[in-house]
Amino acid sequence: MCPERKRIRDLEFRSKDARFQACVPAAIVRRLLKLCRSSVRHETGGILLGHYSEALDCAQVRKVSAPPLDSEQGLTWFRRGTKGLQALLDQCWNAGRDHYLGEWHFHPFSAPIPSGTDLGQLTAIASTPGYGCPEPLLLIVGGDPMGAWSISVHVVPRGGDAVPLLQV
Ligand SMILES: [Zn+2]
Repeated sequence: MCPERKRIRDLEFRSKDARFQACVPAAIVRRLLKLCRSSVRHETGGILLGHYSEALDCAQVRKVSAPPLDSEQGLTWFRRGTKGLQALLDQCWNAGRDHYLGEWHFHPFSAPIPSGTDLGQLTAIASTPGYGCPEPLLLIVGGDPMGAWSISVHVVPRGGDAVPLLQV
């Protein structure tokens, strides 16, 4: 086991008022880092799938998609495509009632701070009925996926401001 692998643990995030929580298991963190490494300094991203705890207060991320093949990416921008996502959503729903939870993307070698564009996209998703997701999560991986990386999570409620979740 390489030291990098050993260090990764389940990550939990919580809003200051404890209204929103998210759990990102170590296996998901490892997959995210692998996807970021394979994009070679370009932004990349995809969707988050999972479900909420019974009390409906904790989003449990159970799967993350790779960038759909029709995505477009540059060094500092990423436009997520849609190809294959419906099939993945259907498959996850049938397998374990997992559904769309939000979006993830990578800020190569910079901080995982959402840009105005990032937040605008999530706000649009929150109010698009097709997503059925009034409180999407935005997960950003920042830094070096081989070493000093960090992850931020925000909730972007429909009609409200983004709520940062702090790692606990
Ligand atoms: Zn971004």
